[in-house]
Amino acid sequence: MNRRISRALVLVDTKDGAEIHCAKCGHAIGPGGQPWKPGATVREVSMRGVGGQAYTSGEKVILRRFSCPKCGSLFDTETALPGEPFLDDILVV
Ligand SMILES: [Zn+2]
Repeated sequence: MNRRISRALVLVDTKDGAEIHCAKCGHAIGPGGQPWKPGATVREVSMRGVGGQAYTSGEKVILRRFSCPKCGSLFDTETALPGEPFLDDILVV
């Protein structure tokens, strides 16, 4: 059984438990009940100018874009300082 856990991710039951998959292409991202972001492609860009001139942030703030390694579908974004650990999203069903 597949259960959608976000716009871009689904939880797929397997014989050993569950896995998190890309909702668009079905690529396996990681095991259920564990942080999924390490299984995604991560692109970090400076927040400087991301929202146009009206938007300002700290000089070092970055935007992380987590996407599917297979199809490129965007899973999630977060803001952080360089080197900070990912904000873990763990789903327990
Ligand atoms: Zn995908």
